[in-house]
Amino acid sequence: MKLHTSLEDIKRPVSLCIRDGMCTYGEWPRCYPLCPIYARHRVFTASGGGLVCLAHAVAENRIGYTSTLAEFAYECTLCEACDMCEIIPVPPPHVGPVEVIRFLRHQLVREGMIPEPIAEKYGEDRGVRVARFKAGMDAAGRIREADAGTVLLVESPARAFEGSSYEAAVRLVSKIGQPVGLLEAGPPIYDLYDLGFWDELEEVMYLKSGLIRGLEGKDVLFVDPHGLEFFARRYGELAPANVEMRCRHFSQFLADAVAGGRLKARKERIAVSYHDPCHLSRGMGISEEPRDLLSFLGVELLEMKRSASSTYCCGAAGIPGVSTEFSRWCASERLEEFRETGADLLITACPHCKEMFREVLPEGDKNRVKDLLEFVLRAQEYMKREAMTFNLTQHIEIDQVMLDLFKQLPSMVSRDKDVQWYPDGDSGFYATVVVI
Ligand code: SF4
Ligand code: SF4
Repeated sequence: MKLHTSLEDIKRPVSLCIRDGMCTYGEWPRCYPLCPIYARHRVFTASGGGLVCLAHAVAENRIGYTSTLAEFAYECTLCEACDMCEIIPVPPPHVGPVEVIRFLRHQLVREGMIPEPIAEKYGEDRGVRVARFKAGMDAAGRIREADAGTVLLVESPARAFEGSSYEAAVRLVSKIGQPVGLLEAGPPIYDLYDLGFWDELEEVMYLKSGLIRGLEGKDVLFVDPHGLEFFARRYGELAPANVEMRCRHFSQFLADAVAGGRLKARKERIAVSYHDPCHLSRGMGISEEPRDLLSFLGVELLEMKRSASSTYCCGAAGIPGVSTEFSRWCASERLEEFRETGADLLITACPHCKEMFREVLPEGDKNRVKDLLEFVLRAQEYMKREAMTFNLTQHIEIDQVMLDLFKQLPSMVSRDKDVQWYPDGDSGFYATVVVI
């Protein structure tokens, strides 16, 4: 949707909603509930169609901008499940339910109706929000291997929880051996679009446009599916000038490396479940490549009942980086589904999902969720260790109780040099014992 879209522009499309509630459920015959706000409240108002109808009522001056309206609009996790609606026209002027919800938020921002946690994180007024963004641009602009045809775009160096995923990406690039540039591009801009800060977005896009122009003609890799979807599907419509680039998720880059024989890894004898991030599977249609990578690692994949384009949101995307009671509820729902599979680990391909699940998991279980890139990197590094030893390599899987017993092993190593133990201190679920 264009940043200067008006209420008048959307009046006709939003009037088409027939309130059938189809946008709250997944495909027939299973019809799993997919809209988190509807799953929680069980009223049509709390759904994609409900928010479309509220936007219609606002456009016709039947209701005003109230804190209740803001509550509904900002509780939505932007999971895109409702964008399957075939009635509200999606092609230009592009007003599927999710775009309508973003637009409604933009109107609320203009009316000063921003929920407190968002105002706290992003600033009370436009000046503060733009100043914060500009401060974040100080570290931007560094590019390594500028001539490479493939560039990893790092858009969020300030958010600590994403660090390990980016670090894994950089280390995997070096192991694959293909020249890949790295561009540090300052704070992300997709969240400004998602939260309705469209006036600010317009201003800061100019700040970034020089950097982004440098990506013309390149393959651009993203670790964060939200950034990927924004640049692949929206940037051209919103930015001052479009940039022709091929946006790809890092899992696609890894899947290519595996297919080309440029990445090898140890087989992981473990049962995992894969959580499809909404913006990767629904937003970008990418659900095969992460599974290809898991299959390459030899894991037993135990699918949750809602998967691929029928995935269920982890709750993190409503207000990026802000956890609410509702987002934690969404994550708990999803984790219950994960537990039903009986898998040992939950793998996802988005740092936000990983962080959201980690927040909800009990203390001793937090490492049961992994980012796909970290998981692949670990398997690659273990393979290297095994290659350095020669004789019998025995890989064993242990549970938390056994782990305590195996912690005795390092002292055995010091007494008896024919055993080497490689604990995975990160997950606590693996140890590799090499008997020489
Ligand atoms: S984007 Fe997701 S949470 Fe929001 S209304 Fe649509 S289905 Fe529901
Ligand atoms: S938004 Fe579309 S699917 Fe949802 S209730 Fe309205 S017409 Fe039905």
